[in-house]
Amino acid sequence: MHELSIAMSIIDLATKEAKKGNATRVKEVELEIGEMAGVNKEALDFSLRIAMQHTLLEDAKVNIVEIESLAVCRDCKTRFSPVSMYDSCPHCHSYGVEFLRGRELRLKSLLVE
Ligand SMILES: [Zn+2]
Repeated sequence: MHELSIAMSIIDLATKEAKKGNATRVKEVELEIGEMAGVNKEALDFSLRIAMQHTLLEDAKVNIVEIESLAVCRDCKTRFSPVSMYDSCPHCHSYGVEFLRGRELRLKSLLVE
């Protein structure tokens, strides 16, 4: 499963960060996931629960923040929320679209002890 490998890399990163600060336990993690990151939030949450067992993140609270997608048309500068990576501009139908956000997948913060 795709989400399980993402969960493992998040845990790996969080563990490294926690160890850097000599923490013994991670209490909370906050993740940011863009609407178009291609990640299913529920599946990721589920995968994290399984993969966090027997790690520093065991029993950690997981906050997943979804980031709404936003793009801007390079031709007419219209800003809009695309629903796919292949959307054209709703105003002038140009495909010269630049994605500003919505594809991120990152570990935003950690609360350790
Ligand atoms: Zn346009």
